[in-house]
Amino acid sequence: MIRANGQPHNLMLLSLAGSPAWAMAAMSEVSTYLTDKGYQCQTVTSADAVQDALKAQPPDAVISANDPDSLKALATISAASDNDQPRPLRVLMSDSPLTDTESEVADLVVQAPMGKEQIAAYLPMFLKFQTENNALQAEKRKFTEENQQLQVQLKSHRQTVDELNLIKNAVIHNVSHELRTPLLQVKSAVALLSEAIHDKEIDETQKLVGYAKDATARLEAVIKNITQLAGSLEISPEPMLVQDAVDYALRGLRRIWERKDATTRIRISLEDTLPLVMADKKGLGTVLQLLLDNALKFSEGDVEVVAKRVDDSSVRVAVRDYGIGIAGTETEAIFETFYQVDSSSTRSYGGTGVGLAIVRLILDRHKVKIAVESQEGKGSTFSFVLPIVSLK
Ligand code: ADP
Repeated sequence: MIRANGQPHNLMLLSLAGSPAWAMAAMSEVSTYLTDKGYQCQTVTSADAVQDALKAQPPDAVISANDPDSLKALATISAASDNDQPRPLRVLMSDSPLTDTESEVADLVVQAPMGKEQIAAYLPMFLKFQTENNALQAEKRKFTEENQQLQVQLKSHRQTVDELNLIKNAVIHNVSHELRTPLLQVKSAVALLSEAIHDKEIDETQKLVGYAKDATARLEAVIKNITQLAGSLEISPEPMLVQDAVDYALRGLRRIWERKDATTRIRISLEDTLPLVMADKKGLGTVLQLLLDNALKFSEGDVEVVAKRVDDSSVRVAVRDYGIGIAGTETEAIFETFYQVDSSSTRSYGGTGVGLAIVRLILDRHKVKIAVESQEGKGSTFSFVLPIVSLK
């Protein structure tokens, strides 16, 4: 009996030391008979040898009698093949009616006295079914694996949606307040301004124009944050240069810091011939802009953007400042929406408290983690590692 690949079918016959005489005799008879018919038969005589034989040459079929030792060995074979292995056809020769448990371990049952002819008659068809069944099981395993992967993806999408919903709700709750405060400041500054102009008070006029400008800038920042939040939903990484994201960030920062000319404090230090990285240009630009904006806000000296190759597959990007720093206990909380270390900092430094939440959201969507190293009074470094585009 030949397989599709031209090799003879390989059968394992169980003739264990503890089996009754009829079973041993039957196995020996079946072995001779089936060898004559062109099958390759190996007779196994102990339970330990079953495991070895399974490893050495997995059989297409196992033929066993229904005595307790053989049934146990057959159950072990079934269990072993329940995982990843193709399952051999299990043929049971019985000298008595089978119990439910016995019939569960068998695919084909034949009565003992006339066993060998029956086995020979049924074997080709059953082996064919078994091969087809094994192929279907392999397909099923593949689908189950794919399904599991999809479930994992679904779970991660659900988490993102939950996180976005939290941010969205927080934004809705806080935005009216965040917008109203600076708007009222502009309104009252403009009202006082018109009085001051009327009274020709030049100093007072300049001060009020300054207030109005600051409040307008704050309004603009809140609106910008909302736009960035919306943008963080549309991330599609593609090969890009870190330099392009830095340029994007600088353009944005120049608009925000227009009045104070603070962007001259930014030092760019990108390693020569940095390879292409896999990231969303606008997303990475927004991340750098938000990190640099904080670095400028919370320090007075130079701030740095550094990008260096870590190894063949990644580039580390860092934004560093030498400013007020962040206490170790705060380095997690600062990424929460509307969290500010010092709530009075809004007044002294400006800001809305959503910048870092947006940074983390965008990097999460790149499957990239952000790290913070900081020391109070010494400064902070925010960094992350991007994958290099593989040319294979
Ligand atoms: P904000 O608009 O207030 O800057 P963020 O979410 O960007 O909001 O930052 C949250 C808080 O984290 C800030 O209010 C500040 O307390 C702290 N923080 C962020 N970056 C720095 C930094 N470079 N140095 C010191 N503190 C920082």
